[in-house]
Formats: sequence, C-alpha cells, structure tokens
Amino acid sequence: MIRINEDFNKLAASYLFSEVRKRVAAYTAEHPDVELVKMGIGDVTLPLPAACVAAFRRAVEEMGVEETFRGYRDDEGYEFLREKIAAADFQKRGADIDVSEIFISDGAKSDSGNIQDLFARDIVVAVPDPVYPVYVDSNVMAGRSGAFRDGRYEGFLYLDSTTANHFIPSVPAERADLIYLCFPNNPTGAVISRDALSAWVEYARRNRALIVYDAAYAAFLRDEKLPQSIFEIEGAKEVAIEIRSFSKTAGFTGTRCAYTVVPHDCVAYNGKNERVSVHDLWSRRQNTKFNGVSYPVQRAAEAVYTEEGQRECRRMNDYYLENAALIRSAFTAMGYACSGGEHSPYVWVDTGVDSWNFFTLLLEKAHVVCTPGAGFGRCGAGYVRFSAFGDRQSRQKGIENIKSALGA
Ligand code: PLP
Repeated sequence: MIRINEDFNKLAASYLFSEVRKRVAAYTAEHPDVELVKMGIGDVTLPLPAACVAAFRRAVEEMGVEETFRGYRDDEGYEFLREKIAAADFQKRGADIDVSEIFISDGAKSDSGNIQDLFARDIVVAVPDPVYPVYVDSNVMAGRSGAFRDGRYEGFLYLDSTTANHFIPSVPAERADLIYLCFPNNPTGAVISRDALSAWVEYARRNRALIVYDAAYAAFLRDEKLPQSIFEIEGAKEVAIEIRSFSKTAGFTGTRCAYTVVPHDCVAYNGKNERVSVHDLWSRRQNTKFNGVSYPVQRAAEAVYTEEGQRECRRMNDYYLENAALIRSAFTAMGYACSGGEHSPYVWVDTGVDSWNFFTLLLEKAHVVCTPGAGFGRCGAGYVRFSAFGDRQSRQKGIENIKSALGA
C-alpha cells in the first residue's frame, strides 16, 4: 500500500496567496463592476531587458543548428554565466568567491526549499517571523517540526522581527543549527547592516551552525555601506551559503534562473563530529535531482552582465523603487509607521489593527488588494505588505483610493 508522508498533514491549512486569491475572487464575484488595484503579490511586471531578449533569441537559434545545438550538461551551469556572476556580484565587491562555488538553478524558491535535504532531521531550524514561507514549509515537509499551534510550528526557533528590533532579529540566546536570513527582507523590506550581519556570522561560527542567506532582492540595495552579499563579511565562507535570483534583478520570474553559492570552505558535521563539505553534498544532491537550466535561459541571464543589461536592469529596478517610495511616503504622511520601501520593493505598514481586517477594509472601501502580514507569521499580525511591482499609474490610483477610504 502506498502511504503518504504524514508530515504534509502538519502544513498549515491555507497558503497565504491562495487565501488572498480566494477572498479577492469572492469579492469580484459579488462586485463584477469594481476594478481592483492589485498591490499585493510580488511579481514583476516590466518586460525582460532588451539585452536579455536578444541573447535569448540568439541562443534559441543556435539550438536549431546542428553545429551549435546543445544537450544535457551535467555540471553546475555554464561557465560563461558563472564567470560573470563571480566577477560582478562577488569579486568586484571584495568577496572572494570562485566560479566553482556557483551553482546555476531554476529558482531561489527551489534552492531555498531544497537546501534542507542535506541536513539531519533532528537539527534546530531558526526562521525569521515574519518569513518567506518556503523556509518553514520545506522543513515541515522534511519532518523537522511538531504540530502547528497558535500560528507557529513546534520545534522551530522563531526569530521575531518587530518594530522593537527594526525588523532585524538579533542573535538568539538559544542554539540553532540551520538559520534562514533574508535581506533585503521579504516581507518587511528591512535591510541589514554589516555589523548586524557580522554578529550572525560570528554566532554561526560559535555554534557550528549554517546560515542560508537569501539575497533575492540584492539588486534593490542603493547604499554602498550595506552588504549585498554575506560573503562580504569576514569568516562567512565556512558558515554560510547564499541564494540569489534573476527574478527580481532582471524580470526573470517567468523565465526562471537563479544561483546558489556554496563555498568550498563551508562545512557541516557528520555523526562523528567530523567536518563534511557542504559544497560536495549540494553538488551530489543537484547532480541526482536536477538537470540544469536551459542554455537559452543561461545566455539571457549572462546578458544581464553586459553594459546594456546592467543599465536596463538598473532602470527597471529604479522604477520599482520609485513606486515603493510613493507608497511609503503616502502611508507615512497618513501617520502609519512603515518599514522597507527603501532598498526594497516592499513596504511593510504597521496598521495598528488586525491585518486581515485591514486587508478587508482596503479591498471593500479602497478596492485595493494588499497582502495581510499575518500570513507571513505571528509577528506579521498587525501589518500589511505592499508590493512596488506594477505600473506607476495604478500604484498612484491605489494610493489615492486608500487615502480617500482612510479619510486622509
Ligand atoms: N526568495 C525570496 C525571499 C522571495 O521573495 C522569492 C520570490 O518572491 C524567492 C526567493 C523566489 O525566487 P525565484 O523566482 O528565483 O524562485
């Protein structure tokens, strides 16, 4: 008899975005004439940079010609792309990352969900609250949690991110083995300083722990003093891996390309307390379960690093940042405390009320869809998230609707 993985039964009933979709669909069914402004989901809307489209097209043509056709590649991604990444995203910023430490993948979601495959079932997992749900759910599926009670899974160490700590969790007194950090943060938009990140690296070294650093939004950082990579911090290579994505950097959410950096120095421990290379484990895992990203997609990603590609990505992300600034300043002017919206495409608004109630208020009175913070964790209960992705005009319309609905 085929039996299921009972850990799936522990997963909390509704996934945030499907619940939002359900409520929006119900409202639309009752009010078919109302035009809603969607300011919730974090999907990009601007088209791919022209440099990427041209490279993509050229590579598709190559695939149609016998001499240039390419089949399986059993390595970690094409060198032409990994070399550009190593040079531009790391070495140029003083982070000593080698081409051989970069693994190309189809998404930061898959990599952040899959990385836990490498570790023992009884490790202590630390997750931020609020959190990008993949870190939590992938560990629940793998059997590392107890039951879901009062908005949290038993067995996880939650790192509270609140107004009190400016949404930057400090290192806990307790020991954790696998720590997920994400900066610029989804959903709070918070960014971490070099000093605060150094404290986490030091914590991981002290506890022989491993940090999974999700820098999917690094392209939105505009302050040179802020670290773009955890590998800009001394000592991080032994205790961290980093996940990046072209999704937000270059509009690749529907094209799919990302990468994970696993330094050769990064170690975990076996049952005899001996050091084991995390790079070798990840390489083994990927070679078994993953067959690479298509050649045209990797060529399109490579074009991000051309002069034209860099310029176009910058322009695109600046546009989203300007949207974010508009949303942030509107809420600030209405007297709401906000996080994010600077160096980040998300604005996290402290509503002072229950987040689902605020969501419903905006849906019904302002015809605006936002994302209720409660869906990201217990600490998100009084907050909502606005996404800056989308066109300027509709963001402005959404803001005007909100202002009149809230009587501002
Ligand atoms: N990591 C974070 C923090 C995200 O917010 C997202 C997407 O919203 C992802 C990863 C997923 O990225 P990708 O499109 O590369 O799978």
